[in-house]
Amino acid sequence: MMAKILIVDDNLLNLELTADILGLAGYKTVTASSGKEGIEKAEQTNPDLILMDLRMPGMSGLEAMLKLQRGVTTCDIPVAVLTASVMKGDKEKLLNSGFYAYLQKPIDASRFPDQVAALLSNKSAAV
Ligand SMILES: [Mg+2]
Repeated sequence: MMAKILIVDDNLLNLELTADILGLAGYKTVTASSGKEGIEKAEQTNPDLILMDLRMPGMSGLEAMLKLQRGVTTCDIPVAVLTASVMKGDKEKLLNSGFYAYLQKPIDASRFPDQVAALLSNKSAAV
């Protein structure tokens, strides 16, 4: 059975693009357009992996990830940050703050399903 991926992004084009790419690769996808909705969907659908945008109005991706880590039903779900943030040291900071992995936007459609597969199969590695 293919893994279920929850994608959280306030940019609906990004959200749909990411969901389409993973859906075509055979994954089940669930989408949310805010941190708050992402937490609700994580609780409701128990995904195998969460892909989290960082910059969102209201609750940021970082805040949402930290809430998920404190949630009884969501603390074991790996949360990868998916961001265009490219400042020097950002990747290390994000990984140190608790994100399971770091994925760079814009995503490369031809590589993205493999990157996600690698995250699912190696629960300790960043890609
Ligand atoms: Mg955003």
